[in-house]
Amino acid sequence: MLPAVEQRGSVTNTTGLMKANVFRAPGQFGLEQKPIPSPGYGEAVIKVNLTTICGTDIHIIKGEYPVKPGLTIGHEAVGVIHQLGPGVTGYEIGQRVLAGAITPCGQCEACLSGHASQCGGALGGWRLGNTIDGTQAEYVLIPHAQANLTIIPDDLRNEEVLLLTDIASTGFSAAERGNIQIGDTVAVFAQGPIGLCATLGAKLRGAAQIFAVDAEPRRLQTAQLFGATHQLHSSARPVETILAETGGRGVDVAIEALGAQGTFESALRVLRPGGTLSSVGVYSGHLSVPLDALGAGLADHTIVTTLCPGGKERMARLMRLVQAGRLDLTPLLTHRFTLDEISAAYDLFSQRKDNVLKIAIQVA
Ligand SMILES: [Zn+2]
Ligand SMILES: [Zn+2]
Repeated sequence: MLPAVEQRGSVTNTTGLMKANVFRAPGQFGLEQKPIPSPGYGEAVIKVNLTTICGTDIHIIKGEYPVKPGLTIGHEAVGVIHQLGPGVTGYEIGQRVLAGAITPCGQCEACLSGHASQCGGALGGWRLGNTIDGTQAEYVLIPHAQANLTIIPDDLRNEEVLLLTDIASTGFSAAERGNIQIGDTVAVFAQGPIGLCATLGAKLRGAAQIFAVDAEPRRLQTAQLFGATHQLHSSARPVETILAETGGRGVDVAIEALGAQGTFESALRVLRPGGTLSSVGVYSGHLSVPLDALGAGLADHTIVTTLCPGGKERMARLMRLVQAGRLDLTPLLTHRFTLDEISAAYDLFSQRKDNVLKIAIQVA
């Protein structure tokens, strides 16, 4: 394990500066020097070991999702506790920890009524790399540390838990919010990292049939590995195929994991009367609902949305699945780069080169 450290913090950097991937303007971002953060009351600073790039980060660097210039991007991190602010108890410097992408306070109305992702207001639980500096840096400040630092069991490697922070929590939430029942028939539109985790979530929830739809054959192969029973290419009339395969009935739960009009409509069109459309994609622009697919609003459909559940209990719950050998996300980590190579990593990820799914960014 890690060496004993002096007083309230470990001393591994004497300059007081760190490297961070900073957003400046649409299309303009890169590594800069920033002061290492220091924790205030209830906060902690993590020395980042591994981080990754999310599809949302691509929206940010393209200017499609607004953040303030000067913000460090990234919201997925595994590391060790570097410093603890006052009021954070039960943790020690040097412990290996995971912090979810969503860092709820655990005390506000949203948190205490079961919607911690909406902590403090709409989408308010998403702070890292959105409203405060994020994880693509050598150090990151974690707010509300008491509610958000999850100690990683010694038998789990960093690579095995990194993707729990966002895509697994988000994808599984799509299956949970869809309330998939044992024996259900499910369709998952788009098999990017989150769609693949939704497919895995449907399997874990006990779905009998899982139709995975995507345009990329390699992603459909991974979907099969993750529990899809049918792999359908998006150009091969998936709606008609799903309706035919279900005898015209449609699916109990349709998951939309892209955030686009076409996949939203397809999800609605394969839904049985009384079924649930669980939407997990991030939409931009405009979304309209075709009334014929909605049964003119009379078909007893349920439409639910979700934002990645965070907080330490959620992360601990997901780590138990990994420990039990029931969840292996490492096939999604198709590439590895260092923090110094992060521009190349963004290039590969945003262009979807070389069948990339997720990239492990080695920071330390
Ligand atoms: Zn994300
Ligand atoms: Zn809260």
